Amino acid sequence: MNDSTQPIVTMQKLNKHFGSLHVLKDINLEIVPGEVVVVIGASGSGKSTLIRCINGLEEFQSGNLTVDGHDLMPFGKSTKALQKIRTEVGMVFQQFNLFPHLSVLDNITLAPMKVRGWNREDAEETAMRLLERVGIADQAKKSPTQLSGGQQQRVALARALAMEPRLMLFDEPTSALDPEMIGEVLDAMRELAKEGMTMVIVTHEMGFAREVADRVIYIHQGEITEQGPPQQLFDKPQHERTQSFLARVL
Ligand code: ADP
Ligand code: MG
Repeated sequence: MNDSTQPIVTMQKLNKHFGSLHVLKDINLEIVPGEVVVVIGASGSGKSTLIRCINGLEEFQSGNLTVDGHDLMPFGKSTKALQKIRTEVGMVFQQFNLFPHLSVLDNITLAPMKVRGWNREDAEETAMRLLERVGIADQAKKSPTQLSGGQQQRVALARALAMEPRLMLFDEPTSALDPEMIGEVLDAMRELAKEGMTMVIVTHEMGFAREVADRVIYIHQGEITEQGPPQQLFDKPQHERTQSFLARVL
């Protein structure tokens, strides 16, 4: 289903437990095509778990979750939908998770060839175009281990984009980077946002959030405490918890 007016993500009363730990509590969330949503909150509040549920990396115990028209069921009972979602949702992690034994180029062409059945020529052409776009076409033949952290993260971004995702998830994509490399990764993400990609971004980069987010969601102990446009959430937070969190990080 690619209806452009339908939400890409619909989450209703989603609950997630790790054993006795109730990590996500009755989360309701709708994300529409082209929307850029930034998720903020203290360490351990459930941000990673939330976005990992969206691409089926974590199962949940109750609630409804639909991603791009595919229903994910509680307790991971949705193999078919999972396969679809994994190919339609791109994810960039804090640790770049590139394959160290493959060249930069092969890191990017692997999934399109294996999963989408593209031939090598087409896959490489697309990969080079994406590397160009994130500014590292000259690194294509190298091993990821020869690249800086900022370059590796841009490869990870290009790799995700090669699958032509309908939705991109980012989990603290700049948290493992040296400060001087954060900007180049944020620039690439900013470009992507401008082009209309639907994005869910967990980040501590509040300046970036203010600039690119259509909506900022503040999570506290597994609950959405408050959400709104960045100007509203950052400048006029309504909830006392949001205020004290922002006072600590801004
Ligand atoms: P955040 O990304 O906001 O820092 P997480 O979603 O990683 O938070 O974690 C939320 C809570 O769930 C934390 O208390 C964390 O310790 C716990 N948790 C995360 N992953 C697991 C796991 N695989 N097993 C058990 N507990 C987990
Ligand atoms: Mg996290």
